[in-house]
Amino acid sequence: MTPEFNPDSIRPELAANFIAGRRILGQGAVLDVVRPSDGALLAPLHAASMDQMSQAAEDAAKAQKQSGWGRMDPRARARILRRWADAIEADRAVLAPLEAVGSTRTLGEILAWDLPYTAECIRFFAEFADKHGGEVGATADDRFGFTANEPYGVVAAIAPWNLPLVMAAWKLGPALAAGNAVVLKPSELTPFSVVRLAELAIEAGLPAGIFNVVQGMGHDIGDGLVRADQVGKVSFTGSTATGRAIMSACAATGPKPCTLELGGKSPQIIFADADLDKACAIVARAITLNAGQVCVAGSRLLVEARVAEEVTARIAALLRAHRLGETWNASTTMGPIVSEKQLAGIDAIVQTARAEGGEAITGGARVDRDGTFYQPTLLTGLSADATAVQSEIFGPVLTVQSFADDEEAYALANGTRYGLAAGVHTQNLSRAIRATRALEAGTVWVNRYGRSDDFILPTGGFKQSGIGKDLGREAYLGSCKSKTVLIGL
Ligand code: NAD
Repeated sequence: MTPEFNPDSIRPELAANFIAGRRILGQGAVLDVVRPSDGALLAPLHAASMDQMSQAAEDAAKAQKQSGWGRMDPRARARILRRWADAIEADRAVLAPLEAVGSTRTLGEILAWDLPYTAECIRFFAEFADKHGGEVGATADDRFGFTANEPYGVVAAIAPWNLPLVMAAWKLGPALAAGNAVVLKPSELTPFSVVRLAELAIEAGLPAGIFNVVQGMGHDIGDGLVRADQVGKVSFTGSTATGRAIMSACAATGPKPCTLELGGKSPQIIFADADLDKACAIVARAITLNAGQVCVAGSRLLVEARVAEEVTARIAALLRAHRLGETWNASTTMGPIVSEKQLAGIDAIVQTARAEGGEAITGGARVDRDGTFYQPTLLTGLSADATAVQSEIFGPVLTVQSFADDEEAYALANGTRYGLAAGVHTQNLSRAIRATRALEAGTVWVNRYGRSDDFILPTGGFKQSGIGKDLGREAYLGSCKSKTVLIGL
């Protein structure tokens, strides 16, 4: 049953921190949190003070040691995580509206995907708790050696606003399963739903202090958290610029290991031999999903010249067909942009595209209504070095370029500083395999685009799109430090 949804029914007390098992009102800056769907003020967020943030890191370290979370029977740890996942699914009447009202995700998407995916992601990592995968090494007459994967202690997780629950699950699942405590700083734009996630974790039996939320801006609270002495590892998802700042802070205060999931400018290549109906539908969806505010948004269409006109017209028609609206409105097919600032940034790049010789054959402007909405936009006529082709826009803006042969397609595809994902559409198997080899991207999708629930397959970027992986075995092992033990017999 779809929960009843009243966009004004959000409990303002969730705009809090969650430290040592309790909701705590912040004593730091007071930040306005705005509802992107209509611009209404949701709640003032009382961010943590620097002292509260430091206390959260200290409490997390203490809880990780004293509660025995890292040393308990790993099956018991897995059971708690699974109970938490069940509680997340059972809480859909509270959690789904909370996520919808405070973010750009529609209620329909959250119920059908974000929420079950968040729960399943935690279940997936719970299963790693007793499968550490240490190596057995020397087994000669005179010695025996092995490695043990141990938790870091406290993992700092810094998350973006685009998929608040899902991004939190990517960080929390592996770190908690490996026996760490986590201090999560969500985006200041989407602070609510993860506090509810923390409440549910405590109800499911997670010891107090093992999952904490500190609220605030990145330059003070986020930076301070990364630098905290107790933090042994940092897991970050966000922009490339912030990733650099975090890596510098990790170097200056450690060095501490960090996983960086950063921006993208992912190409979608359509060859003339592709199933064009399917390819056009996939490309149109990959740039309008969450209004293009997805790290792997397929934001550059590269299409073989002889089908370029037809493909461009078809995709433009699909973009025009979107119904923009509030996240809680069942007829909405594309929701809002997260903030005025983000929307202004999108529009500025579209205006620059026009100045650089591009043409918006559909869209190209904000929507004249309450909230922050941008028209799905298709830009043609741009050169490979144009701003809109090179910069991550993080909005529903697709550029189109055509190519004559495979080599030109690869050169265009690889011609940005990013390397997060790429899509290839062709019915020729050899061409598809050659393309997967030629493309400089952490994920290459063939005749599909976007993730499904294959948690075992990791995700992460090449080039300036990041270092390390979320999901998969790699994310679990990335939450552990490996200790070598060698015993003389
Ligand atoms: P952002 O970099 O502005 O902020 C991300 C988080 O970092 C926020 O919580 C912010 O408060 C915090 N932060 C900012 N400065 C900080 C600092 N100096 N120290 C510590 N923390 C700091 O990114 P955003 O606007 O929230 O999200 C959009 C970006 O995230 C896009 O570039 C997108 O591609 C990227 N993203 C990447 C992935 C991926 O898996 N690769 C997934 C989602 C989003």
